[in-house]
Amino acid sequence: MGCKNIVILGSTGSIGINTLKVVERYPERFKVVGLTAYNNFKLLEKQAKKFQPTHLGVSDKGVAYLKKKISSGKTKILSVNRDLESIVSLKNVDVVVIAMRGAGALGPFLAAVRSGKIVAPANKEALVMAGDIIMQEAREHGATIVPIDSEQSAIFQCLNGQKRSELKKVFLTASGGALLNVPKSKFNGLTVGQILSHPRWKMGKKITVDSATMMNKGFEVIEAQKLFNLKTDEIDVLIHPEAIIHSMVEYVDGSIIAQLGITDMRLPIQYALTYPDRLDSGLKSMNFVELKKLTFKKPDYKKFPALELAYYALKKGGSLPCVLNAADEEAVESFLEGILNFNSIYDVVAKVVRNHKIVSSPSIKQIMDADIWAREETRKVMSQL
Ligand code: MG
Repeated sequence: MGCKNIVILGSTGSIGINTLKVVERYPERFKVVGLTAYNNFKLLEKQAKKFQPTHLGVSDKGVAYLKKKISSGKTKILSVNRDLESIVSLKNVDVVVIAMRGAGALGPFLAAVRSGKIVAPANKEALVMAGDIIMQEAREHGATIVPIDSEQSAIFQCLNGQKRSELKKVFLTASGGALLNVPKSKFNGLTVGQILSHPRWKMGKKITVDSATMMNKGFEVIEAQKLFNLKTDEIDVLIHPEAIIHSMVEYVDGSIIAQLGITDMRLPIQYALTYPDRLDSGLKSMNFVELKKLTFKKPDYKKFPALELAYYALKKGGSLPCVLNAADEEAVESFLEGILNFNSIYDVVAKVVRNHKIVSSPSIKQIMDADIWAREETRKVMSQL
């Protein structure tokens, strides 16, 4: 394995920071050529000084700041609002890690697959919005997509070396989020602080709220369907609070291949960077005797209707998953700002999903239009509450 040149979009978030930890462990194998962030430009400055990328992307405010702090001789300081696509398409880039959250990742994701890169997405939104187009373009341009999301990484690994035609079912595991053992009657009084204390994975705020509503798992169902070309009824969500089995694939003979590991994002991140090789991660081994048992439960669709809504959006298809994503992004944002209460997140998103006139086989332009429509509609629905 030679040295891989890496771009990290969203290097100051939790996935970005962990990606740099992986990179740091193997300086002879990975060279950081691009880092981007939005508002955390002080951390980006630190990262830039340490990893010496040739390209930085940041918000316009950050551009002014970094130009004073970093000599522009070696490093180009660009705007994330305009230049993400050109950064990921640079000729010398081998791997693009998409650690930024939100719909804004769609443009650079497409640019990366169109340039035939290895793309390692932790971002779900782009695949939910336009998974069919992304996968189609990846095939056309010889891009490889190695997901970072722990469940998708697990499925990817369980499919390695197997015949796709022999697949029977995918078990997408879910830790259950912060509300697994909280009765539904208590949901509405929940504060942002309570929601953000997620038991298994340390993550960004938006995804932690999505884990609590289980919309995150719904997005993962959609994402898995796109990434692995599955039928909707081939994907089963399974609650597994210990989050040790990251997902499983059952084959026609009844054999089940599972991927297990400690809950540390450096594992799937490193696999995406080194695929098809594996390297010592320095992480501790799993102690099964200490662990004693793994438990499982059926998801409670009444308690977490967002999961069912995501299945519905996936079955209806077309522009609907994009609308689901945009409405959820807006509603969760309002919840985090304290404007919307917890149960209303689902109510608002479900209403927007119902109000949408589905465009089947949408183009990127039609997807972007659906995204804009959904955000406006969500604000309208919220204002009428
Ligand atoms: Mg996940």
